[in-house]
Amino acid sequence: MVYGSGNTNIKSLKMRTINNIVLHCTATSQKATVESIKNYWKSIGWKNPGYHYLIEANGNINNLQPIEKPSNGVRGHNSDSIHISYIGGKDENGQPKDNRTPQQVISQLSILIGLKDSFPEAKICGHRDFDGVKKACPSFDVKEWLKHVKLDA
Ligand SMILES: [Zn+2]
Repeated sequence: MVYGSGNTNIKSLKMRTINNIVLHCTATSQKATVESIKNYWKSIGWKNPGYHYLIEANGNINNLQPIEKPSNGVRGHNSDSIHISYIGGKDENGQPKDNRTPQQVISQLSILIGLKDSFPEAKICGHRDFDGVKKACPSFDVKEWLKHVKLDA
């Protein structure tokens, strides 16, 4: 299991119902640091992180929140969602761009394979697939991408 590792409190937490597994980008440079992203959330007064998993350009996975607890990925849809983001998603001119590194894609897949196993009924989608969302996040078409990858172990 890729999630929950190292969290000693995890057994005492009660699992939520998970209906959505949502992919995001940070809409920052690929070089943005995990620390700078966490500081941004703090600066806007968020108590919870924006995502459960944050994937760096080198593929490193940061588990920022136990999946038993919500994170702030999609307004109005956090109580039953798990959020996964890669660092990047914008080009040099600030335009949406799918600039995931191969390592980030591998990490996305490893997280999704684990979550799909635990939550087979959950829908995997992109942030922009929710009604009323005007962002390009995660800067790629998740449904189209899922046709080309294999999530069964
Ligand atoms: Zn998003």
